Amino acid sequence: MFSYRHGFHAGNHADVLKHMVLVQLLSHLLLKDKPFSVIDTHAGGGLYDLTSNYATKSGESAEGIAQIWPLRRDPGLPKAVAALLAQIARVNDGDTLKHYPGSPQIAAQMLREGDHLRLFEMHPTEIKLLQAHFASVKRGVNIQQADGFANLKACVPPPSRRGLVHIDPSYEIKDDYRHLLQVLREAVARFKTGVYAIWYPEVARRESNQFPAQLKRLAAELDVDWLHVTLRVKAASPDGLGLFGSGMFVINPPYTLYDMLAEAMPWLVETIGIDDHAAYTLEVQQR
Ligand code: SAM
Repeated sequence: MFSYRHGFHAGNHADVLKHMVLVQLLSHLLLKDKPFSVIDTHAGGGLYDLTSNYATKSGESAEGIAQIWPLRRDPGLPKAVAALLAQIARVNDGDTLKHYPGSPQIAAQMLREGDHLRLFEMHPTEIKLLQAHFASVKRGVNIQQADGFANLKACVPPPSRRGLVHIDPSYEIKDDYRHLLQVLREAVARFKTGVYAIWYPEVARRESNQFPAQLKRLAAELDVDWLHVTLRVKAASPDGLGLFGSGMFVINPPYTLYDMLAEAMPWLVETIGIDDHAAYTLEVQQR
């Protein structure tokens, strides 16, 4: 436990998919005047320096956001990619890509006065970074060094009865998959109209392979709409190690999300796909 530091992975292909979807979900909630809450159960450090030792050592952003950033003025960019890049531009000066915003920063910079952001993070170093990052923000952001899984149930429904729950564990322990399904079931039972965004890794592990089917079964049981998108950038390595893709499972997706992703995903495969196994999937169950 606690060996995972998101700084190693910031801006990689999985972050690009995750944060592109997140920006779309937030944009849709912002269409109505009524305030809403964002609950981020696994917040991370908030903002990452892509020139730090962590980031340069892993080089993961080089195969993710760093390939997309130089194309940001291309008028043919898919709208969802352009919207993500606009958020990343807000934490960078000019043309140099130095910082990469994590989900708390993306949410914080998109929310309005009156909206609310609730962040959970357990790692002793990450929580300090997160608290320091938001130190000057006095209102609207609540940060707790606590277990996001254990606390989710008590956070829903939020007082506004409008909200987005982002569940983005590190899956360091395989029990995270089971745990997530359990807390998701409880949360949706209490707050059925909430939007839930669940990220998961595509790795050579039984729990990861089974996870999308388990999420779909749970959504059917709870009688909620869902959208499932995956981005694979390369073949699984023969030694079974490493992240070759990832998925986002969204409960109660906005009706516009499918079309946005149908435009963006082929472009992403083309732009950051590494080998012939690069591919995407996109499915929706919406009544
Ligand atoms: N959501 C972040 C983003 O998009 O920028 C990245 C989060 S990272 C994948 C997962 C984080 O969850 C790590 O910082 C880890 O320390 C933290 N974590 C692990 N178990 C946790 C738990 N039970 N509750 C809250 N945070 C946890």
